[in-house]
Amino acid sequence: MRSPAHRCRDIERQAGYLQPDQCVPPPPRGTADGMWFIQDGCGIVCGVITWLLVFYAEFVVLFVMLVPSKSLVYSIFNGILFNALAFLALASHFRAMLTDPGAVQKGNATKEFIESLQLKPGQVVYKCPKCCSIKPDRAHHCSVCKRCIRKMDHHCPWVNNCVGEENQKYFVLFTMYIALISLHCLVMVVFHFLYCFEEDWTKCSTFSPPATVILLILLCFEGLLFLIFTSVMFGTQVHSICSDETGIEQLKREERRWAKKTKWMNMKAVFGHPFSIAWLSPFATPDHGKSDPYQYVV
Ligand SMILES: [Zn+2]
Ligand SMILES: [Zn+2]
Repeated sequence: MRSPAHRCRDIERQAGYLQPDQCVPPPPRGTADGMWFIQDGCGIVCGVITWLLVFYAEFVVLFVMLVPSKSLVYSIFNGILFNALAFLALASHFRAMLTDPGAVQKGNATKEFIESLQLKPGQVVYKCPKCCSIKPDRAHHCSVCKRCIRKMDHHCPWVNNCVGEENQKYFVLFTMYIALISLHCLVMVVFHFLYCFEEDWTKCSTFSPPATVILLILLCFEGLLFLIFTSVMFGTQVHSICSDETGIEQLKREERRWAKKTKWMNMKAVFGHPFSIAWLSPFATPDHGKSDPYQYVV
């Protein structure tokens, strides 16, 4: 049982929590701004599994299906297409994982900062008690990242990061390219099975017939699973961008306090450019502009 003294200390601590001037002032910019990487064991394992699954698909596509193929044109065309899509998928994964999703500066709920916001009477600011920051509108706290994230959609262990305002483009591209390579794999597996049924099974692969069948069935299973999973995720993301409502806002059925924009305006906001080829490139960094995240509605 806790003594009254204990309870009193807890109450004192909680009361102190609510005082903005009790927050630790944020570190000066530039010193703590290293590379963004979430040190979460589960996320790191899931991220490594993603890369290994793509490498497995790469191995089967190249050494079981394309190298033994009789048609050089078929092998070169599909080899280039598969490798290009796999490269773009992994590059998107890399950028989704290592891009700051829109983290609010930790510990910025200081007296000076709140005064600097020059709030009008009646304006309300929300303070996150976990990371001691002033939450901009539409920001949510992520318990894995231990930060408040602007326009947080969800925390995805497969990219070991939150999906938020700054990295949603890379996440959308990641799901799209994984869906495309999965579909491409499945089409090639069907063609290869047909080719093996017509030809002698010993000639259609450099591996033994049982090994070939097992490798192809495993790839088929992987392709089907990820095609369904990533297409659903891609569709959900596109829907949430078009409706300008994050996954969390849809779940919580939050009251809309932000101005509704058109689909194209929302797409432009996420992809950071007017419609162009840059939308499909994980190397084109979106230009999100310099809008003030602390615009509170009275
Ligand atoms: Zn927080
Ligand atoms: Zn997170």
